Amino acid sequence: MTGGAGFIGSHLCATLLGQGHEVLAMDTFVTGRNENLEEIFYHDNFRLVEHDVTEFIHVSGELDTVIHLASLASPRFYQRNPIKTLKVGALGTHKTLGLAMEKDATYFFASTSEVYGDPEVNPQPESYRGNVDPYGPRSCYDESKRYGESLIRAYREEHGLDTRIARIFNTYGPRMRPDDGRVIPSFVRQALTGTDMTVYGDGTQTRSFCYVSDLIDGFIGLLDSDVQDPVNLGNPNERTIQALAETVLEMTNSDSQITYEPLPPQDPMVRKPDITKAETELGWSPHVGLKNGLETTIEYFENVL
Ligand code: NAD
Ligand code: UDP
Repeated sequence: MTGGAGFIGSHLCATLLGQGHEVLAMDTFVTGRNENLEEIFYHDNFRLVEHDVTEFIHVSGELDTVIHLASLASPRFYQRNPIKTLKVGALGTHKTLGLAMEKDATYFFASTSEVYGDPEVNPQPESYRGNVDPYGPRSCYDESKRYGESLIRAYREEHGLDTRIARIFNTYGPRMRPDDGRVIPSFVRQALTGTDMTVYGDGTQTRSFCYVSDLIDGFIGLLDSDVQDPVNLGNPNERTIQALAETVLEMTNSDSQITYEPLPPQDPMVRKPDITKAETELGWSPHVGLKNGLETTIEYFENVL
C-alpha cells in the first residue's frame, strides 16, 4: 500500500492486518507520520518501507493487491507542492500499475470527488463528467487524479488488469494532522486552542463529511467486489461550512470567534456524493453521523494538541 503512513492509509493498514492480511506500506512521510502506525508498527505481518513511489518500485515476493493512496491530499499541501502532486498522480500511478502487472495483482486507486471540480450538478453521480479548470489553482490535484483514472482504464483495456477506483468524498477522523489545513482539523484545532475559526467566504458553500471507519468499510466492500469502474464513497449528509463551524464550537464549548476570510479561488460551492452505485453494487452505506464522528475526532485532537 502506498501512502500507508497517512491518515486513511494507517486506518486501512490496521483493518487489513486485523483481517489476517500481510501488509507492506510504502511512504515518503511528506505528510504521513510514524505515530499514525504506533499501534501496528510491531505487528508480525506489517512492514514499512520509505520510498518515493514516483521512482521505480521493487518488491520481492508475491502481492495480491496493490493499493495506491499516496498523494498530497489537502489543498494546503497540494498547492504548496504542485509538481510533487502531479508526479504522484501520474508517475506514481504508472509505477504502481506496473507493479500490479508484474505481480498479477488487483489494483486499487484512491481517486477523489475533485474529479467533478466545482460541480454544476448536485449530488454528483459517477456519470457526471465534472467542471474542472485544467489550468486552475486546484488543477495539479484534480488533473493528476483524472489522469490516474484514465491510465487505470488503459491498463484494464490493454492488459486486462483487475482494477478498483474509489472516488472519495471529504473524509475525516483521528490521525489527521493538526496543520493539515482541511476544514475539520482546522476548525477543531482552532476551537480547542481558543483561536479564531476561519470560515472562508460567507460559509454558504457545502461539503458532505464521511467518518473514516465508514470509508474503510467502503474500501473493503469495493476490494471484495468485482466492480471495475469508479465508485463514489462518501456520506451524503450535506451541510454548510458555517453550520459545521457552529457544530464544532458547540461540541467543544469553545470561546473562539468565527471570522471570515476570502474564499480561495475556484473553491467548489457544493459537494455531495450520489452513493446509489455503492449502495446497490457493494451493499455499502455510511453509518456514523457527524456528531459521533466529531466526538472521536475532538478527543483525538485533545490528546495530541
Ligand atoms: P494523507 O496526506 O494523510 O496521506 C497521503 C500519504 O501519501 C502520506 O502518508 C504521504 O506521506 C504519502 N505520500 C505522498 N506522496 C508520496 C510519494 N511520492 N511516495 C510515497 N508516499 C507518498 O492524506 P489522506 O487524507 O489519508 O489521503 C489518502 C488518499 O486518499 C490520497 O490519495 C487522497 O488524494 C485520497 N483522498 C482523500 C480524501 C479525504 O477526504 N481524506 C478525499 C479524497 C481523496
Ligand atoms: N475551509 C474553511 N476554513 C478552513 C479550511 C477550509 O472555511 O480553515 C473551507 C474551504 O474553503 C472549503 C471547505 O471548507 O469550502 C472544505 O475545505 P477542505 O480544505 O477541507 O477540502 P475541499 O473539500 O475544499 O477539498
